Amino acid sequence: MTVVRPVRTPAELVDAGHLSPEHLGDIERVAERYAIAITPAMAALMDRNDPNDPIARQFVPDAAELVVTPDERDDPIGDLTHSPVEGIVHRYPDRVLLKAVHVCPVYCRFCFRREMVGPQGLGTLSSEAMDKAFAYIATHPEIWEVILTGGDPLVLSPRRLSEIMERLAAIDHVKIVRFHTRVPVVEPDRVNAELIAALKASGKTTYLALHANHPRELTEAARAASARLVDSGIVMLSQTVLLRGINDDPETLAALMRAFVETRIKPYYLHHPDLAPGTSHFRLSIAEGQALVAALRGRISGLCQPTYILDIPGGHGKAPLGLSAVTAREDGAYSVSDYRGQTHRYPPEE
Ligand code: SF4
Repeated sequence: MTVVRPVRTPAELVDAGHLSPEHLGDIERVAERYAIAITPAMAALMDRNDPNDPIARQFVPDAAELVVTPDERDDPIGDLTHSPVEGIVHRYPDRVLLKAVHVCPVYCRFCFRREMVGPQGLGTLSSEAMDKAFAYIATHPEIWEVILTGGDPLVLSPRRLSEIMERLAAIDHVKIVRFHTRVPVVEPDRVNAELIAALKASGKTTYLALHANHPRELTEAARAASARLVDSGIVMLSQTVLLRGINDDPETLAALMRAFVETRIKPYYLHHPDLAPGTSHFRLSIAEGQALVAALRGRISGLCQPTYILDIPGGHGKAPLGLSAVTAREDGAYSVSDYRGQTHRYPPEE
């Protein structure tokens, strides 16, 4: 069956063959709390015969989402505690998040903002709230970078995106505008000349961080959409969430990072999964994550190495989690480990 529009309800999941009817009751309970959307591009990638398909597991709801553990929280990275005005998160001195919209073309089952996004979420900023958000940016000269996230900002129309970029272009101290999006992967046809033009503004440099978690997401269409963006002068970075059963093995991570680099997307962040409600089935331990990242060292080019990071719960910012290759020795020198695990004194004794 050819799917031509997004799947959005449990009944549609059954009709499209993503869900067996006996699970419908549980998934209706999941849907009461968390949004569902699967684009045709992602539906086409799923293997209906594989119960552990890494694409399906990212988007098809699971009864495990009904289990909320004591350490999980509605706002795992503390957006609300660092929001001076609606739509703005100001966590670090030189940059802010601008959350203009809380809608996404797909809803990831592990989403760290799952309590805020979707039809029952925080919606789109009103024009009055937008005015206040831009006034905040304009009156804080330390803000060098504005990061449009949400939700997925690329669901906005080119006209709305152009308006945002024009308003940012009028603020001299903002030099960098960064978009966080899944669109080039999950809805690649949306990345057309009109949308690309809307992401740029005179005097500002545009970065686009693409969220993808498995190498199969980098389809020909996704690579072509990314090429259109890069060819236009937009710099692309990657973001990946480390997820149990989806990408928690060195071969998959290596293939994903290489696919990014082949697509002219510089691997940037590998996120340790956040403590979002109903997501414990996706989480692994920090020790497991560190072992995976260590396994990438030496296995793939330095171009392909992401930074493994944790958003510290409560909104205290990001912390790198990778193991250090260097330790201080008692004799004042250092001990440095190579990618095979062998240690070497630095400086060498002779
Ligand atoms: S695209 Fe991002 S904000 Fe939207 S559901 Fe996925 S992780 Fe959450």
